[in-house]
Amino acid sequence: MLSCRQEIAFFHDDVGTMALHDAPTEIDLRKRFQAIFHNTFQFIFLVSVEGVILEINQAAVNFTGVVASQALARTLWDLECWADEAARSKLQTGLYRASGGEFVRYTGEIVNLEGTRAVVDLSIKPIFSSDGEIDFFIVEGRDITAIKRMEFERDRERQHADALHKLNDMKNEFVSQVSHELRTPLASIIGFAQTLLRSPNIAPEKATQFLNIILDDGRRLERLVEDLLDISRIESGKTSLITEPTSIAQILDYATHIIATEAESKRITITHDYTPETLPFLALDNDRITQVFVNLLANAVKFTSPDGSITIRASHDKEQVSVSIADTGIGIPVSDLPRLFEKFYRAKQRDTDGKEIRGTGLGLAIAKQIVELHGGSIRAESTFGEGSTFTVTLPHQAN
Ligand code: ADP
Repeated sequence: MLSCRQEIAFFHDDVGTMALHDAPTEIDLRKRFQAIFHNTFQFIFLVSVEGVILEINQAAVNFTGVVASQALARTLWDLECWADEAARSKLQTGLYRASGGEFVRYTGEIVNLEGTRAVVDLSIKPIFSSDGEIDFFIVEGRDITAIKRMEFERDRERQHADALHKLNDMKNEFVSQVSHELRTPLASIIGFAQTLLRSPNIAPEKATQFLNIILDDGRRLERLVEDLLDISRIESGKTSLITEPTSIAQILDYATHIIATEAESKRITITHDYTPETLPFLALDNDRITQVFVNLLANAVKFTSPDGSITIRASHDKEQVSVSIADTGIGIPVSDLPRLFEKFYRAKQRDTDGKEIRGTGLGLAIAKQIVELHGGSIRAESTFGEGSTFTVTLPHQAN
């Protein structure tokens, strides 16, 4: 193997610019090494196999504030410049891996001269002696804090743009869904009103039938607008709960009373499988929670065929009360379950006569938001063709 001096001389010879006798002296080489070592932008430590600092360049001194004379002969990981214990152990792991002959590169953290944490791109290169043993390590690095900050800002801007984009998509989807939901009943109202106007001699039974359709669709529109107002109030955070100690048993009674006529018309039996007196009072917004249970019970009636049954169960422990409403209705396809609480989402079921079941797809979305405002949760379980169970869990204390 050539000595360092010979190698340089050989290189110059090779390009024909310098003869062997012009080879630089050891002193020249030392000077050149020092010039490069201390004037490079990178900070550099030469470190022994034991981790002891052999050399430290000017960039390292400037960057870390370490005093060169005090750093020499100390182990590299003992210097005060490492940001924390994690940064020290990362360095030790790096040196350990490099002692196996590996070139190691990683992102570390250093506290710079001004006392601020800086992100550094660090590399550890083992340098071998002629006998193949590791002579020392070159530990070098550069400050990449500004680059990282730019990357972070760029990521944040991208995430912000993505979020705006998503929001815009959601808004467009919402507007198109609302328009679609409004158009169907409106078209029917306008169509039947026009027919009535154009047919002065229409049979009274036909006229009554058309007027009933107009009334039904008018009510559907009214419900839709109320649901939309509700959801927009809740989502804009303008809904604040008015909580007071409330009997959950009374709410369940009242909600059952509201849907009783509809249930009777379908001969659906409703069973209360709990002892009302044992249920605790909860801090609830009475109107809002009533709205949730009316909605769940109305759905149970709507999606249950005549002669079916609905069972209301309630239980409680020290922390919460759980109320479940189980029906023997048409059930929900398993693929629809995860999206059931999304706005406008409706499973594609039909009733026993094959007719589409009407609705806005907003009731469960509103119910979920109200329950969550109370710090509770709502979930749905179902076996398609057999029935569904909706369970609401409410904490003793609303958030
Ligand atoms: P709507 O009933 O007005 O369509 P909801 O948000 O209350 O809106 O319900 C969303 C969908 O969830 C319904 O369209 C229906 O597909 C399904 N669903 C809700 N409750 C039940 C139930 N008890 N049985 C079967 N399907 C149900």
